[in-house]
Amino acid sequence: MGKILCCNWVHPAGCDAAIRGETVEEVLAQAEVHAREHGIEANPELLEMVRGLIEDEE
Ligand SMILES: [Zn+2]
Repeated sequence: MGKILCCNWVHPAGCDAAIRGETVEEVLAQAEVHAREHGIEANPELLEMVRGLIEDEE
């Protein structure tokens, strides 16, 4: 079982990308990279908010 975060969970107008990882930290690292594709520079507040949205994937 891994972790999953969908871009549009973070932003309703986000794309349909799904970010998966083994751990929350791994997903967060990839989310940071993905955010740059949207022109967003992740900051600690944003990452903390995103952390709360990451779900377990069966
Ligand atoms: Zn996206």
